[in-house]
Amino acid sequence: MQENLVDLVKDAGIVGAGGAGFPTHVKVDAKADTVIVNGAECEPLLRVDQQLMDVRARELLEALNAVVEHVGAKEGVIGLKKKYTPAIASLNKNLADFPKLRIFQLENFYPAGDEQNLVYEVTGKIVPEGGIPLNVGALVMNVESLLQLNDKIQEDKPVIDKYITVTGAVKHPMTTVVPLGITAQEAIDLAGGALIDDYVIINGGPMMGKIVAPDSFVTKTTKGFIVLPADHQVIESKDRPASRSLKDAAIACMQCSLCTEVCPRHRLGHHLEPHKLMRVAAYGSTLDEATSPTNAFLCVDCGLCQYACVHDLQPWKVNRSLKEMMGKNGIKNPHHEQPEEAIRFADTHRFDVHRLIKRLGLEPYDVEAPLQDTQVVFKEVTLPLSQHIGAPSKPVVAVGDKVNRGDLIADIPEGSLGAKIFASIDGTVSSVDGGQITIQA
Ligand code: SF4
Ligand code: SF4
Repeated sequence: MQENLVDLVKDAGIVGAGGAGFPTHVKVDAKADTVIVNGAECEPLLRVDQQLMDVRARELLEALNAVVEHVGAKEGVIGLKKKYTPAIASLNKNLADFPKLRIFQLENFYPAGDEQNLVYEVTGKIVPEGGIPLNVGALVMNVESLLQLNDKIQEDKPVIDKYITVTGAVKHPMTTVVPLGITAQEAIDLAGGALIDDYVIINGGPMMGKIVAPDSFVTKTTKGFIVLPADHQVIESKDRPASRSLKDAAIACMQCSLCTEVCPRHRLGHHLEPHKLMRVAAYGSTLDEATSPTNAFLCVDCGLCQYACVHDLQPWKVNRSLKEMMGKNGIKNPHHEQPEEAIRFADTHRFDVHRLIKRLGLEPYDVEAPLQDTQVVFKEVTLPLSQHIGAPSKPVVAVGDKVNRGDLIADIPEGSLGAKIFASIDGTVSSVDGGQITIQA
């Protein structure tokens, strides 16, 4: 089985289940010293991974062990927060059968799940600027991606379902499993519907998630939907035009550098000082040789700098604008230094999640979202052909074709980076158009 692991992952259509959707078969086609499971789930309100690590602990360990053997790693480490006590208990119950695996308990800070911070916490190694964990021998895997690998190994089941948390201003916050391709509104209805009329939906967490329409679809990377009042501060922050963030950098930034103190990449010793980039955006320069707009390439958009700022300024949006402008001009990241050590007292620069939830005005929504099976049957699903990094998948079905759940409906284009897509319900293909395939039950 081990020789086939890359093919198994490819044939299951597995991509990073919580981030940008990098195809996992490319990721696991490597050699590594340590495989780290990213079980931090540091975005407030989301409750998927912490529950899956509890109820599917053994399956997670089986799949992790298979990856550890495949990449020739010395060990596999599940990095999860100390506060996930049921998951820790379930994993500990099974760990004796997996001598190469252990758990690592993280404090409750944001963004503990930032790949590079996770690698630093678990191994003490610092990923170079603009680099990836494999540069220091670490392979970071998502909890759900590993469970999808387990499903493929045990049941020959490809990626057709997705675990999501539906929370915020809904009647019954919950975590559940749904077929890929249902709409955000259908997911919200599963949670009893919205409690308010004028609401906005975030796909993902409040920090890095994006505002989406009610008729947008659950894809392989959807971790959850958060329903918030349209005038909530989190929505205002996401909606605030970048032009205003740039203007505010000149008008209101007092260069206190609190944003830099909390920046997770600055903490690792990377040359990223958001307060200086605010000065670059406002005045074009810092008169400091070590800072130029290109330092913005080292920003990962975690958004934390805004919540350290007493004026609620948005260095992350300024950085995003700088990156977009440089991208348009063909400028690439020139920063690839490998810091020898993190900044002094790096541990004291962690930003507590409770404090963050308070700053975000999300305390009323910081509730349990228990894992439940809804048994709802869906009449229609729509599967975008581009729900991963790489080329859009190529349809292998036509309108009128009958498909069964699990059938291949779109393949990786020859010679491209991509992922396969499968039918998530039994039915008939009703449309292959506009970069998506619709199936009616
Ligand atoms: S925390 Fe706010 S005011 Fe202080 S330097 Fe950063 S952006 Fe400017
Ligand atoms: S969003 Fe802000 S805190 Fe996060 S990496 Fe970028 S500059 Fe640092």
